[in-house]
Amino acid sequence: MRLRRLEPTYVTYVPGELEQGRLYISMEYSTAVHLCACGCRAKAVTPLASDGWTLTFDGSVTLRPSVGNGQSPCRSHYLITRDVVEWLPPIGVAATRAAIVRDQAAAAAVRAPARSTWWKRLVDALRRRRRSRSG
Ligand SMILES: [Zn+2]
Repeated sequence: MRLRRLEPTYVTYVPGELEQGRLYISMEYSTAVHLCACGCRAKAVTPLASDGWTLTFDGSVTLRPSVGNGQSPCRSHYLITRDVVEWLPPIGVAATRAAIVRDQAAAAAVRAPARSTWWKRLVDALRRRRRSRSG
């Protein structure tokens, strides 16, 4: 059964056993977690970060961008606006793939820092200067 509302539930730790219809929000861990609003019980984890989701509180909760459960068979796709679930057309396979590629690229960027650091550039500059003096 598709839900029309999610009830914000403020927690420190997200419980292991989630209740359908609740949007668990942990400020300590900058994460919101809920069970897919379609009722399939897939867990939707939305990290709250500049490159993740933004949570707005005005007495009710708004989450942006949309939640797309493209990894689940239901392919549910919806916005959470003022605690209300606004259903969108099912998320496509292409969009899911693009999201996975984007996530992997973001993860790879974290693992592999930029090769050219400021001190390497400085060392290279000093080496070049020494070479030009001796030459
Ligand atoms: Zn679902």
